[in-house]
Amino acid sequence: MKILLHTCCGPCATYPVTRLLSGSNEVNCFFYNPNIQGYREYIKRLKAVGEVCRHFNIALTIPERYEIEAWFRMVVGDLRDRCSRCYKDRIEKTALKAVEIGCDVFTSTLLISHKQDHEKIKNICEEAAKSNNIEFYYEDFRKGWREHWQMTDELDLYKQNYCGCLFSEYERFKNKEDCKE
Ligand code: SF4
Repeated sequence: MKILLHTCCGPCATYPVTRLLSGSNEVNCFFYNPNIQGYREYIKRLKAVGEVCRHFNIALTIPERYEIEAWFRMVVGDLRDRCSRCYKDRIEKTALKAVEIGCDVFTSTLLISHKQDHEKIKNICEEAAKSNNIEFYYEDFRKGWREHWQMTDELDLYKQNYCGCLFSEYERFKNKEDCKE
């Protein structure tokens, strides 16, 4: 099977890539994440994904542009439910890309996170698969949570400390002592 793996960051890619490579599959990582702000943070996460791809000798697909303006326009109408729009955008683009480059299935590293809405992501993937006439491969990658941190340490990958958008950065740090106004 040729699999397109939507890849949010290096650490989250580790365990899913090992799982997906365990058959005779071909895995291609797709780094489509305009939700990552600011730009230097985006580049750090992209580089970590590049390290994972080099380590496993698999392909990496990167969009032509960092679509930051489009991302803000997409979420601005409903900031409270921004995560649903953010998930949908990334998954929908992954399904489209999978069809475009002739993959058999797609999936996402978002399915490894205990901090994301797992069921919502799974449902969005299923809908994107149906509407784009392609298969979605589901696996609860959360079971590899411990291994993914081990591999992250072994490969010495950059570990981000907030989800991605400015709002998540604010939520993460607003109560830290050195961030008090
Ligand atoms: S918190 Fe994470 S999933 Fe939600 S909108 Fe921000 S970057 Fe996207």
